[in-house]
Amino acid sequence: GFGLVADDVGMVYRRGAQETLALADCNLNVGRGQWASLIGASGCGKSTLLRIFADIVHPTCGTATLHGLTPAEARANRTFALVSQQSTMLPWRKILENVELGLEVAGVGKSERRRAAMEAIELVGLMGFEHVYPNELSGGMRQRAAIARALTLRPQFLLMDEPFGALDEITREKLNFELLRILRETSATLLLVTHSISEAIILSDQVAVMTPRPGRISKIVDIGFGHE
Ligand code: ADP
Ligand code: ADP
Repeated sequence: GFGLVADDVGMVYRRGAQETLALADCNLNVGRGQWASLIGASGCGKSTLLRIFADIVHPTCGTATLHGLTPAEARANRTFALVSQQSTMLPWRKILENVELGLEVAGVGKSERRRAAMEAIELVGLMGFEHVYPNELSGGMRQRAAIARALTLRPQFLLMDEPFGALDEITREKLNFELLRILRETSATLLLVTHSISEAIILSDQVAVMTPRPGRISKIVDIGFGHE
């Protein structure tokens, strides 16, 4: 059971009497070290699938595993890190202290935390900005800091939900290549949710296409990006 596997996953959101079928018979298999993008129309269930892997919501049926672990087990083992569209930075803490946050929560000691945070800050190209506050940086730089925070955990899986979705087209394009460079340095398995086909093609080995509601992976295109 290596890689990221969704096996006949179904998801129904219930809110009072209202039921929304978000995913039906969804199957996905991303091999260890592969980079996969998930594309599809808005509302088809992309974020839902990612949030199932990240143990934020539980599937109504089927199973999701990360190297054979359930999402809850994977979370306990810090097997994955999540980067979302609006990653939260604590405004009263400097970038360095924000990047350290993941390791701090994990109970890692101060000197080791600092060393790992500085390494990640360098990797995302934010050297020199470690002592500024998040709101002193551009949105793109804040997202890079969020990626740095995720990388400090040395996750086996990076789950990214529109990591640059809130940014303008040009900034986005620039950061995509930046992200590609950064991810080359890690051996993480990646699942990227995006609404941009070009982003998916630029960044991945494999593009999974989800059908309109209810989401089901209808096609997997191997791009063979060959990042090895
Ligand atoms: P995508 O990421 O592809 O835009 P989502 O996974 O966000 O799609 O949403 C899939 C479907 O589930 C949509 O119909 C959406 O309205 C619904 N949905 C998403 N989150 C919730 C929620 N927390 N409660 C109820 N319905 C939700
Ligand atoms: P990004 O492409 O990361 O969103 P911008 O396009 O907003 O960044 O900014 C371009 C460059 O300007 C950044 O890479 C950075 O070197 C510099 N910059 C942006 N914001 C600041 C700031 N608050 N202080 C110093 N330099 C900044």
